Amino acid sequence: MELIFETDYQLILKKLNEIDPLQYGRTRNYVNGAVTYLSPYISRGVVSTHQVLKSVLKEGYKISEIESFVKELCWRDYFQRVGQVKDLNTEIKQAQSEITNYHISSNVVNASTGNEGIDAAVRLLYKSGYMHNHCRMYTASMVCNIAKSHWLHPAQWMYYHLLDGDWASNACSWQWVAGANSNKKYFANQENINRFAFTNQSNTFLDTSYEALEKWKFHLRYWQHKN
Ligand SMILES: Cc1cc2nc3c(=O)[nH]c(=O)nc-3n(C[C@H](O)[C@H](O)[C@H](O)COP(=O)(O)OP(=O)(O)OC[C@H]3O[C@@H](n4cnc5c(N)ncnc54)[C@H](O)[C@@H]3O)c2cc1C
Repeated sequence: MELIFETDYQLILKKLNEIDPLQYGRTRNYVNGAVTYLSPYISRGVVSTHQVLKSVLKEGYKISEIESFVKELCWRDYFQRVGQVKDLNTEIKQAQSEITNYHISSNVVNASTGNEGIDAAVRLLYKSGYMHNHCRMYTASMVCNIAKSHWLHPAQWMYYHLLDGDWASNACSWQWVAGANSNKKYFANQENINRFAFTNQSNTFLDTSYEALEKWKFHLRYWQHKN
């Protein structure tokens, strides 16, 4: 898969007219879903979230019909506001728990985790500067909640490679996955990744229930205690 982000302003404006917010609501979690790929333009101020919303509403949709799309635009604006009042390099709600290191696994950076959905997403990131939202969550979950890395350095790695690199959305989202900007860590298991990334892997270290993934926490605590 190759993604090209045009820089001609008229072509960018045309993309606004091509948004299908109903299909978006139905498919946005799938790696081939009807997402807009507008983030490089929004994050660089080429188009605003207001302009995007206005363009969609002129098609006659009611907000209630396209709630899922509007919500995501709101998340973007909300994170910007958070960035105005908080130091995003530090934890927003609470300290990340269960940290064992302040690095990022070379398997993630080299796209060699063995998880096909995540590895393909990292390769696409290097090639095109884009990663699907769900894949960003999967990657951050593997890094922070399985490899137990502190969120900051890995977030900087992803930010560096993204064409839409935006520190407010980036840091707030990494912290959300790591449980530092939410009450609960976000875990993605193999079944989830297979479903939304169209892979078909089994017997991987993620091929287990959420309860089992959560329990790793306790094993780790026990191991740390003993060592
Ligand atoms: C770990 C992680 C890191 C992220 N880092 C960034 C980043 O550096 N820059 C960035 O712009 N977004 C970031 N996001 C948010 C989101 O993944 C991207 O905005 C979205 O995937 C961009 O693709 P799109 O334009 O096709 O989005 P669409 O799904 O088509 O959404 C339209 C627009 O809404 C906004 N948006 C959508 N989803 C989100 C979201 N979850 N949070 C905030 N805004 C959203 C974006 O401006 C996007 O262009 C991150 C999310 C995660 C989980």
